[in-house]
Amino acid sequence: MPIRFDADYEMTIDGKGFVASDTLEVVNPATEEVIAHVPDCRKEQLDAAVEAAARAFPSWKAKPISTRKAAMGEIARHLEANVENLGKLMTLEQGKPLTDAIGEVQRSAMWFREIAKENLPVTQHVDENGRQFETRRVPLGVVGAITPWNFPVALGVWKVAPALLTGNTVVWKPSPFTPLCALKIGELLRSVVPQGVLNVVSGGDRLGPWLTEHPGIQKVAFTGSTATGRRVMQSAAGNLKRVTLELGGNDPAIVLPDVDVKVTAEKVFWGAFRNSAQVCIAAKRVYVHEKIYEEFSRALVAYAQTVKMGDGLEQGTKLGPIQNKPQFQRVRSLIENAKTEGLKFLTGGEPYQGRGYFVPVTIIDNPPENSKVVREEAFGPVLPLMKFNDIDEVVLQANNTDYGLAASVWSSDIEQAKKVAEQLECGTVWINSIQVLSPHVPFGGHKQSGIGVEHSLDGILEYTNSQTIVTQ
Ligand code: NAD
Repeated sequence: MPIRFDADYEMTIDGKGFVASDTLEVVNPATEEVIAHVPDCRKEQLDAAVEAAARAFPSWKAKPISTRKAAMGEIARHLEANVENLGKLMTLEQGKPLTDAIGEVQRSAMWFREIAKENLPVTQHVDENGRQFETRRVPLGVVGAITPWNFPVALGVWKVAPALLTGNTVVWKPSPFTPLCALKIGELLRSVVPQGVLNVVSGGDRLGPWLTEHPGIQKVAFTGSTATGRRVMQSAAGNLKRVTLELGGNDPAIVLPDVDVKVTAEKVFWGAFRNSAQVCIAAKRVYVHEKIYEEFSRALVAYAQTVKMGDGLEQGTKLGPIQNKPQFQRVRSLIENAKTEGLKFLTGGEPYQGRGYFVPVTIIDNPPENSKVVREEAFGPVLPLMKFNDIDEVVLQANNTDYGLAASVWSSDIEQAKKVAEQLECGTVWINSIQVLSPHVPFGGHKQSGIGVEHSLDGILEYTNSQTIVTQ
């Protein structure tokens, strides 16, 4: 029977649908209307999900990898067959424009297919006494996947795909602000993977800590803020769970004086404001060489004025609202703080009049390095634009943060841009582009932006232990 996307939001535990006695409201951030109620998972329901995943583990692990790859292909087909439904649901719960939401679902299907192309290595060594060492990779057991609200499907898929490929089973907990797509994906896949292999649970603030401290879980794959990441690591220590932590960032973009100003301003605009700047790898501090600063800032503001912000379901909308009220209030207070600090606004700064958690694109003119808007990850459309004149100095400023997720360098001199890139303390540096990721390339943060990587063989191996068999 075809599933409904506009109702019947149930958790998936052991291949079956579950509701709970308590529910949580899900709000459309563009209208502030309650659009759904979802189960608030009880502790015994989480226990049941972990037990189901543990029961499913031995046979899932024992299947040939080709069988698991075939299941991943089936998952991709199911996502593609429901791209429109999932895309619309994502716009309703997350706020992003419909084309972006559909694109996220399409890329997620592609991600399953591409991750399924990876293979687990087996290595051999023979020592001087003729002893043979063979090392292979074995799955860990039950993986707890915890995801935030900015990319409600993609960030889950980044965890579920490598976990399933390597023979682990999963309990996925989406953000309480955006649980709808994850719950529907759980429902869609009940007939695609064996019972218990993929469980999806929704719940409020209690659920994350229950999951991270659960003794039946062997690994936590987490994307979220650095503050929560620290808590996850502490609570995972109980049974020495493996952790992969993808955390916050405060990515610098460095614009050298030899760029095509108009073209670069437009690219940097999207690098900073896509998804209304609710992107871990958004450009969050833009350093522009003083020779082109005025021209660049004018081009950036002129371009910003051509971009429509609104309800993601409306034709022509390119930027949606902030996803939830607490984050909306945080971003607003960052703007108010900038005003009290006497900072100058190139555009934006005024509250939006009307319903919905909208924050107009706000660009701040050359604020001091120690201002809050430069030091903190805004995670909303508030961008500090800074002037520099010395490359060595700007590299120091770019690195002067506890974060180390990503960065971008913009220049027509690729060799010079590479020299700058190599000095930046972060996991990824893009030259003349931004936010380009691949399922086959490692992605992860340095410093307090995370531990471990996702994607590529390196990321996949984080879902395994090595096992060596020594034959005499
Ligand atoms: P968050 O840390 O508040 O929440 C993330 C998830 O953790 C949610 O599912 C939440 O319910 C859960 N959670 C909250 N407290 C928990 C606890 N004590 N134990 C276990 N789980 C808990 O983050 P958010 O506000 O949803 O997302 C925004 C943050 O995510 C930003 O800092 C952003 O930079 C970061 N982010 C990072 C990446 C990356 O790949 N590095 C990608 C996207 C977002």
